[in-house]
Amino acid sequence: MPSAPPHAGARDATELGRRAQASNTMSNNKPVFIFRAIASDIGDFKALAEQAVRLKKYGRVEMTISGLAQKARYEIPESGNAWHEYASNNPALHKFFPHEKIAPFVPAEFVQKNVRALQERLKVIRELGLGASFWAGEPAFLPEAFFRANPHLRGPRVDHPRRSKHEVFAPCIDHQETLEMFAWMMAELVRRVPELGTFCFKTNDAGSGICWADWLYSGPNGPASCRQRSTGQRVAEFMGALREAAVRAGGDVRVFMTPQFRTGEMREIACYCLTAATWMAAAAGGASEAGPTRPWSRWDAACSTHAIR
Ligand SMILES: [Zn+2]
Repeated sequence: MPSAPPHAGARDATELGRRAQASNTMSNNKPVFIFRAIASDIGDFKALAEQAVRLKKYGRVEMTISGLAQKARYEIPESGNAWHEYASNNPALHKFFPHEKIAPFVPAEFVQKNVRALQERLKVIRELGLGASFWAGEPAFLPEAFFRANPHLRGPRVDHPRRSKHEVFAPCIDHQETLEMFAWMMAELVRRVPELGTFCFKTNDAGSGICWADWLYSGPNGPASCRQRSTGQRVAEFMGALREAAVRAGGDVRVFMTPQFRTGEMREIACYCLTAATWMAAAAGGASEAGPTRPWSRWDAACSTHAIR
């Protein structure tokens, strides 16, 4: 991220910039070791964490704390579905800290078990002086009942048609309401896990997906309302919303994506993310053009020559 310009700005925005720069400096100067522990048993998790401690002298060590306490069996249709047998093992923000619009559609007991498991892991890493990371598949598919109640938020079909007899859908992240839900869930994660250093999400695979992406398993699909938006813009806005929510909640969190996009989409995403980072640095420094609305038209102008569609 380039240096923020030395403008005097709003205290809040300046603080955002300081934290963003501090985060960048840390990741540039020292390696960050992330252990994606999938152990559901806390004893196994602790054994791995104790081995990870030896890397502390070389950099920051983070243990992934987002493993589910159990498979999300409530997601599996009564008649069964082979695809759900693995997709329902994937963590997602809403399985720990569901936004109030999602919470009625996720069993409270399931959420409580996941939070309890997360707290047990937190106790271990706090005793050992380690950092935390959260790994998830996002935007993750949501129960059909959610979309029946909120039809305007239905995004792309994200199951694998060769393995699935039941369609599932992720929310459309082009919708401001969806971004606000994710921002709330990310903020809640940061409040509950102040040690969080990294949020990493996989997408377009195993029950997660982004509207109109070429490599969605059913092919590019989504609502007509967002079809004309660029993949780069929608991904940059999603990642920016997560990052901004984390920082505003007091976190110093790097947001990473494990993508499944074709090369042209990746170039477009990279361009939009870089342009967004430049703008956010300017906003954080209090530059006069900074405002509550991101300058999409300028992003489009800067990135149009990089997009290969
Ligand atoms: Zn969309």
